[in-house]
Amino acid sequence: MSAPRVVVVEDEPQIRRFVCDALRGEGCQAAEAGSARQGLDAVGECDTQLVVLDLGLPDMDGVAVIRELRTWSQVPVLILSARLAERDKIEALDAGADDYLTKPFGVGELLARVRVLLRRRTGEPQPVHRFGAVEVDLARHVVQRDGADVHLTQIEYRLLAVLLANAGKVMTNRHLMQEVWGPGRAEQEHYVRIYVRRLRQKLESDPARPAHLLTETGVGYRFQP
Ligand code: CA
Repeated sequence: MSAPRVVVVEDEPQIRRFVCDALRGEGCQAAEAGSARQGLDAVGECDTQLVVLDLGLPDMDGVAVIRELRTWSQVPVLILSARLAERDKIEALDAGADDYLTKPFGVGELLARVRVLLRRRTGEPQPVHRFGAVEVDLARHVVQRDGADVHLTQIEYRLLAVLLANAGKVMTNRHLMQEVWGPGRAEQEHYVRIYVRRLRQKLESDPARPAHLLTETGVGYRFQP
């Protein structure tokens, strides 16, 4: 398999270099872009497997970049955001970004996210998911833990299926609400929290310290395979 191509869109040369060096060390081909326009061009030019996108760019709002990109590409997007830009981060995820890192971040953290997103990209859709002691067969609608059937309600099952289908991706509360309960229920986002808690009780070995159904504080949830 050829080296995956990652486009890094970041106007601060130091951070851009740091990210690109880390990616190259991981065997990726890193293309550097210092502005949103350059970044979009670079993604369009060649087959790209991942975009690392800073939200604070000089020529265009990062969220607008994602919206534009999503009109013609489903390439995974990992956003880099400043610590205080919580609102922007949620907006970016709702616009179609897959995950985020808050600056400053370390190499390990960066590469862990990159690996998950690259794997998701190359992976075939899988009917059977395994994590911890749990096996979920989406084709047969069967959930087992340690080989024994686990009963999930319809909502619990739907929530689990959405999280599994988006493994590694941060799902905002709003997005989960829409996918599981349908549109127009944004004011009931606390349902998500209640149902994630139920899923953890049924599926996590230590529900108080979940290893797979993770909370993204102030944002939403993520399924960690
Ligand atoms: Ca910046």
